Amino acid sequence: MSSIDTLITNTIRPDVRAIAGYHVAEASGYVKLDAMENPYRLPDHLHRELGRRLADVTLNRYPVASYAGIKRRICATLGVPAGYDVILGNGSDELISILDMACALQDRRAVVLAPTPSFVMYQRSAQFAGMDFVGVALKADLTLDRFAMLAAIERHKPALVYLSYPNNPTGNLFDAADIVAIIEALDRNGCGIAVVDEAYEPFALHSFMDRLPEFANLVVMRTVSKLGLAGIRLGYMSAAPALLREFDKVRPPYNINVLTQAAAEFALDHIAVLNEQAALIRAERATLAAALARLPGVHVFPSAANFILIRVRDADDANAKILADKVLIKNVSKMHEVLNNCLRVTVSTPEENAAFLAAITAALAS
Ligand SMILES: *Cc1c(COP(=O)(O)O)cnc(C)c1O
Repeated sequence: MSSIDTLITNTIRPDVRAIAGYHVAEASGYVKLDAMENPYRLPDHLHRELGRRLADVTLNRYPVASYAGIKRRICATLGVPAGYDVILGNGSDELISILDMACALQDRRAVVLAPTPSFVMYQRSAQFAGMDFVGVALKADLTLDRFAMLAAIERHKPALVYLSYPNNPTGNLFDAADIVAIIEALDRNGCGIAVVDEAYEPFALHSFMDRLPEFANLVVMRTVSKLGLAGIRLGYMSAAPALLREFDKVRPPYNINVLTQAAAEFALDHIAVLNEQAALIRAERATLAAALARLPGVHVFPSAANFILIRVRDADDANAKILADKVLIKNVSKMHEVLNNCLRVTVSTPEENAAFLAAITAALAS
């Protein structure tokens, strides 16, 4: 029998062998402010009712593959324009792979383009799909470099351009006019789709969803993860019906499980509860940003999301001390040069935000 190493060398793609797996920090015992989760659960009476609903779900049958009921509810509740449908993903992460798989070519490498720094899965998924990834650096103030983006589109003719709106990990909303210029440039080239990723829409209250009818090459992608349902793994995206039908061919037929479906339908019936939680988090964002701005040597970047990006004098040192105080945030300072000495923290409950503020205050003073 040959060794497992020989087997791996001979079968697993070199580019896959070369990378490290997606790292998720071990969080037990920590105040967890690294993953943009909503800290609030559903109220107890709703939890009990959800339990009863989930108990009624038929587990021995496949899901109904059309997902018509849940899709109708998403369209009706979440602002999808009349005449537009959605397709569902096991998190928007899966939607990104579906988009890439549908656009990756066989005869030459198609291009995925995105500003950098942005959501890491844009690059990773492109790589797995066998596409070339082109990153265009944000400006030092973290705004979109419109001219560099348009030049890169002209040069690389990307099949897909991903725009996180607001952007992760920077938290800012790109200028809508810049996004429109990108969509129009892709349309002029006749070969590009703009994907506006609105994972943080509940905290931004700005969206391209209602503008879908203006652009045949626009996809609007969202998730219920940051709204408070990260555990159920459900993303959705909308686009012109003919385009959406093509993407739907690539989707695994039963990608959304029946428990997710039932939990999502229940949550959408009680969307007001989730929207109230988002409003609380938006208010806490302002309070936390103001408190951080008062700390010596801290620069706070504007955020339209449920997290805040800050720059400190020494991010590695501050992060190590904050971690020692059992608060887990994300040190993004090595992700990209424009993020030098930057830390990203999720906005949470007043109590958890206070724990973070105490930890960072002590860290910066020592
Ligand atoms: C968190 C995040 C996602 C992933 O969402 P899931 O639905 O949980 O897979 C997608 N895009 C951006 C920009 C995110 O920050």
